[in-house]
Amino acid sequence: VKKKAGAYEKQVNPTKKAAVLGAGIMGGGVAYQSASKGTPIMMKDINEDALQLGLKEANKLLSKQVQRKKITADQMGEALARIRPTLSYGDFKDVDLTVEAVVENPKVKSAVLAELEDQVAEDAIITSNTSTISITSLAKNLKRPENFCGMHFFNPVHRMPLVEVIRGEKSSETAIAATVAYAKQMGKTPIVVNDCPGFLVNRVLFPYFGGFIGLLEHGADFKQVDKVMEKFGWPMGPAYLLDVVGLDTALHANEVMAEGFPERMKRDGKTILNVMNEEGRLGQKNDTGFYRYE
Ligand code: NAD
Repeated sequence: VKKKAGAYEKQVNPTKKAAVLGAGIMGGGVAYQSASKGTPIMMKDINEDALQLGLKEANKLLSKQVQRKKITADQMGEALARIRPTLSYGDFKDVDLTVEAVVENPKVKSAVLAELEDQVAEDAIITSNTSTISITSLAKNLKRPENFCGMHFFNPVHRMPLVEVIRGEKSSETAIAATVAYAKQMGKTPIVVNDCPGFLVNRVLFPYFGGFIGLLEHGADFKQVDKVMEKFGWPMGPAYLLDVVGLDTALHANEVMAEGFPERMKRDGKTILNVMNEEGRLGQKNDTGFYRYE
């Protein structure tokens, strides 16, 4: 952690118009969060169905707020109007900050980021919501790597307050400050961290999951471990949390962590994460993980 995020807030203009690439779970969440806190955002995908899903999710979350009387129906309409779905780059020239949230594949991300860089103004800030790919390596294909840094949201975006702002080797102070400021505009709590496997949160979380998996291998019952951790005071136990994260996502992130920190994280042979993936038990996303979801 470099400095308190507050130290960055005065150096830049606020983001007046943002864009998110990818209208999936995370991109849709980012669009909703930005729009509901007042910042217009373009939401680009390559797939019309994905755009519609992203909008449907935003609609659902806003409707809930109307039902709870937190916002009026008019405010809901205004928030929805701030999300501009698009399949093409059309109006990206006046976008101040973009969040790339396409699939977690280094080749796809590098291609999308390079393409995006050609569409935005020279001083636009480009960020990536990658969970596991090095920000420094993603910057290598860019002409203006100083304008690029990580902006790592957590799932579900509308509920998780923290955003990791990741400083790549070439990220400028302006890029970091603008990203910190935008996270605050969205009502989030940004922290600035260096670029390393797992950034900060997953460096803490994945060894914890490793401890949980070790307990299961020694015969513990996952439901009991969950209950114990809830009694300890955590909002949910590790099995339930893995179901929320997705067992495929968790396996992938665990592999990245094991590669980055082999002395602490590497394990020989299969773990329950491998077995559950082989059995297609991916967690809440397909209704079966440690628990079954109806
Ligand atoms: P997702 O599969 O739900 O969505 C990805 C979207 O990207 C899809 O709608 C797809 O059509 C779109 N896409 C693919 N190529 C594109 C392109 N060239 N241009 C525009 N859109 C394109 O994925 P997700 O879970 O939302 O994850 C997105 C990113 O966020 C990944 O990098 C992931 O690691 C990261 N992330 C995910 C989570 C999580 O829990 N799901 C948490 C934090 C960060």
